[in-house]
Amino acid sequence: MWLATVYTGELPNIVVKKNDSHDEIINKFNDAGLVISYSSGTSGIHTFIPRDQRTFNSAEYGIAKSLITMLYPFWEPDINGYLFMPNPFKTNVFAGKVCSVYFDVIKDVQVALDRELTADLIQAAMQNNLKGRIIRYAMQRENKKMINRIINWIRKNYKEGNKVGMVGAPFILYFVMEELERNGESFDFGERGAVGTGGGWKIYEDKRLPVKEFREKVEKLLGIPPENCLDLYGMVEGNGWMVHCPEGHYLHVPTTYYHAMVLDENGEQVSYGEKGRFAFLDGLATSYPSFIISGDEVRMLEHCPACERETPVLEPEVKRAKGDEMRGCAEEMRRVLSMDLGR
Ligand SMILES: [Zn+2]
Repeated sequence: MWLATVYTGELPNIVVKKNDSHDEIINKFNDAGLVISYSSGTSGIHTFIPRDQRTFNSAEYGIAKSLITMLYPFWEPDINGYLFMPNPFKTNVFAGKVCSVYFDVIKDVQVALDRELTADLIQAAMQNNLKGRIIRYAMQRENKKMINRIINWIRKNYKEGNKVGMVGAPFILYFVMEELERNGESFDFGERGAVGTGGGWKIYEDKRLPVKEFREKVEKLLGIPPENCLDLYGMVEGNGWMVHCPEGHYLHVPTTYYHAMVLDENGEQVSYGEKGRFAFLDGLATSYPSFIISGDEVRMLEHCPACERETPVLEPEVKRAKGDEMRGCAEEMRRVLSMDLGR
């Protein structure tokens, strides 16, 4: 089967039944010790990546370490957190799953979406038929409640003077902020708040939110300074995380285990400063060949124009190369969740 051609170890034996769904099969492998996760495209084609436990742990460690060190000295275990993602323990979507580390590094985490999110549900919700419409209708109602839950949580923590960390898909926080704006409500968390986002900046089908505008909104409505509002870039195929530096919001490459390159259409490396496709050799993957050419268009600079950190950087915003289908880490979630939030 296809998995065996990608996986570089001994696959556990599992029994697959004829009617098993994608996620049922994945869960069987995962119960047997693997961590298979996926990301889905707008065309409904999923990218599945088989990690062994060690590779998955490294990916988790990588994301936590990159973000926490960039936010230094913000982090402490005693923070209250909100995760704008599906519950990591109930999904096989990689962007959601890797966030389980958030539960390890801080005291209290609330989750935006607590129900199980499966490949089949995502696919069904995207379809324009009766079933798709029913799922979307149910989700709309859930979504309104979700936004209200988040706002209540913000109010409570603000009142109690708690330190808060909000992490996850930017569009959810965007809709929260739109609602705050409608209510004429704002907060001033200052250094007591931080925001970490990831997974694409499409807010609606036809609208992309500039990252800078998002940071300004966060500062205006939550009082969290731009230095505490960082975006990160990663993908299901890799275990490295490029994280914004607070000084200039350039995406720093973790060069100790992740060799990033930019390629032209012939697969040749271009020089620093030129545009091309983002590619990498990933030293953390021990269960599949993580030598990947992505569909993302980037420009890499040898030195960060804004700070003294020594690694090369990508420019603050990463876009899909032309002709490639849209497929951010959060894109599938956005399509399912934002179906008409705020519209
Ligand atoms: Zn920098």
